[in-house]
Amino acid sequence: MKSEYDVIVVGGGPAGSLAARTAAQQGLEVLLIEKRQEIGDPVRCAEGVGKVGLAEYMDPDPNWICADIKKARIFSPDGTMIDISEKMAGNEVGYVLERKIFDRAVAKTAARAGAEVQVKTQATGLILEDGVVTGIRGKQRGNDFEARAKVVVGADGVESKVGRWAGINTTLKLKDVETCAQFLMTDIDIVPDSCDFYLGSKYAPGGYVWVFPKGKREANVGMGMLGSHYKGKHPIQYIRDFADWKFPEGKILETVVGAVPVSGMLPRLSTGGLVLVGDAGHVSDPITGGGIINGMASGRIAGHVIAECIKGGDVSAKALSKYDRLAREELGKSLDKNYKIKEVVTRVSDNTMNVVAHSLQGVEFENFTIPKLVKEIVTRNPGVIKELAGLI
Ligand SMILES: Cc1cc2nc3c(=O)[nH]c(=O)nc-3n(C[C@H](O)[C@H](O)[C@H](O)COP(=O)(O)OP(=O)(O)OC[C@H]3O[C@@H](n4cnc5c(N)ncnc54)[C@H](O)[C@@H]3O)c2cc1C
Repeated sequence: MKSEYDVIVVGGGPAGSLAARTAAQQGLEVLLIEKRQEIGDPVRCAEGVGKVGLAEYMDPDPNWICADIKKARIFSPDGTMIDISEKMAGNEVGYVLERKIFDRAVAKTAARAGAEVQVKTQATGLILEDGVVTGIRGKQRGNDFEARAKVVVGADGVESKVGRWAGINTTLKLKDVETCAQFLMTDIDIVPDSCDFYLGSKYAPGGYVWVFPKGKREANVGMGMLGSHYKGKHPIQYIRDFADWKFPEGKILETVVGAVPVSGMLPRLSTGGLVLVGDAGHVSDPITGGGIINGMASGRIAGHVIAECIKGGDVSAKALSKYDRLAREELGKSLDKNYKIKEVVTRVSDNTMNVVAHSLQGVEFENFTIPKLVKEIVTRNPGVIKELAGLI
């Protein structure tokens, strides 16, 4: 490891790897550090992604695709199913990944573009001069080190410290964080090409349970609930109850706990010499909690802006704020819209969910979209307009 780089990226998740890859492709000297000894492990994710979004950043590879998903099924609290078939979802639904391999593959693209990768290397602080970030302090295999950079990228996930060290407020309100627990289960009866979602306060208050297939009889079975809905029962207890009910014969191969920001993008993603990408910048989707593709999108935008600023000799807060603007242009509108939807749907009662699910039986959506769904719901259930007012 050298003592000076153009760019140091802290965190080897999908967002950090994309920032490192993009900056390296622009000819910059890039260091990507990851505190764990293996990139991608342990996984804290249900591993679902949309095909179209993914294709923007990685060519699909059977080595890290576990399941090709053709449809989604949503179950209301009383068990009524809404089937969003392949035809309705526009033929190209998504994949369930093997992130242990996927994250490593993305990091490999950064390495092949010229970035230096160091694992078991943790950032422990930032070097600041006159309020501008000029490097990191870190620990590698027990040894302290310092490394300088023209720009530092905070890609250190939901528990990000890098932003806070630079004076950016990254605090999440309880209502804006989804706390999750998940089992990787085997020997269970599932529909191998369907991602299933279970709604209702007994399964996941202010959230949902997911069953994402990873093979013919294997799936990520998990739940996320809003921190504000916590009343003494932990996510792990909720998912254990669900698994006992739904898959009593199933075996648990892995347990995961984690969190996802569902706040929408941070008001500020950059300052002098520093940008935040991925979960560190809260770019994950407020409704689904999905953050892989948005994280990669933010990483790529950041990589381009950083290259432009470094080549122009200006990494001030003003120059790097171009990243905020472009990230907001590309991701902000849908994050803002989905945040508003989240604020409404997480308050909807079990009874209303059942009424809505009953009324949608037999409805076929041509190219399913959330606005089309909302329109259909309100047309068929004028009585729920008050409860869903924020969506209209
Ligand atoms: C249970 C659960 C299920 C989810 N399911 C989905 C899903 O199905 N689809 C989806 O799109 N998203 C899902 N998400 C969200 C998704 O996992 C994240 O949005 C995504 O991983 C964010 O990518 P990232 O690169 O920003 O951060 P991460 O993937 O979290 O990577 C951050 C990296 O930074 C490293 N790091 C942290 N601090 C330091 C430090 N000081 N020094 C060096 N390295 C450091 C960490 O070890 C980590 O490897 C889920 C999340 C959870 C918790």
